[in-house]
Amino acid sequence: MKFMYLGTAAAEGWPAVFCQCPACLEAQRLGGKNIRTRAQALINEDLLIDLPPDTYMHKLQHNLDLTSVRYLLITHCHMDHFYPQELTVRGSGYSPVMTVRDLHIYCAQETKDQFYRCHNGELDRESDEALHWHILKAFEPVQAGPYRIVPLPARHMGEGNEPFVYHIEAPRENGEGNVSVFYLHDSGYYAPEVWEYFRNLPAAADLISIDSTSGDIDTQFKGGHLGVPDVLRVKKEMEAIGMVDAHTHFVMNHFSHNGHLLHHQLEALAGPAGAEVSYDGKSIYL
Ligand SMILES: [Zn+2]
Ligand SMILES: [Zn+2]
Ligand SMILES: [Zn+2]
Repeated sequence: MKFMYLGTAAAEGWPAVFCQCPACLEAQRLGGKNIRTRAQALINEDLLIDLPPDTYMHKLQHNLDLTSVRYLLITHCHMDHFYPQELTVRGSGYSPVMTVRDLHIYCAQETKDQFYRCHNGELDRESDEALHWHILKAFEPVQAGPYRIVPLPARHMGEGNEPFVYHIEAPRENGEGNVSVFYLHDSGYYAPEVWEYFRNLPAAADLISIDSTSGDIDTQFKGGHLGVPDVLRVKKEMEAIGMVDAHTHFVMNHFSHNGHLLHHQLEALAGPAGAEVSYDGKSIYL
């Protein structure tokens, strides 16, 4: 499995669209891995996680064929994870030639509702019929082609918001068992029933992508995001229950300028703790 980070920032990007704070100015001055677009990830060529407003930019930056995507998995309907208007240009008039026309979308009911509130009648019937919506329920696995996906309830903010984090498995290329990936954005500390799920895993995960939005802030597990001090405590808990071992890629991701830590500062904290730091374009082979 190839797991690729296309974007690694929180809602406003970093440097943020409309911010001139010291963290934004410094990221803009340093460039490179400090330039973070809104969070999105791609598994192999066909499973896309989230649809932020920077999706088009990701296509350009990484020379992607997004029409090869068969499965779209949405964590929740905050704008940085689901920008519904973009799906309207997946219509036959706008996109006459596609590698794959049918797109299976896996999400909460509210995410689907949001799309049909926002498309402004621009989606023609044929294109609408190519969108296959699968409404998820927490802890109920779904099979998307080779991927087995288990939605887990996230702890996140927003009125009427039903956010999910995901456990994604797919057969290993060598045929020996499954690759096991956790995509844990956006979420604060997990509910007891999610920890119960973690405890019952048959093996350590290959990749854990963990919310690190709050950077140097110790949230004490009180919010809908985590800071690096929280993340390092969660890592120890995951190690204690066998969910993380020496082979696990434990990757901090989804960063905000309000968390202050630039890429090299994040690396200085993550390295000694056996963690990694995401950046736009980082690929991991599992
Ligand atoms: Zn977010
Ligand atoms: Zn800023
Ligand atoms: Zn969010």
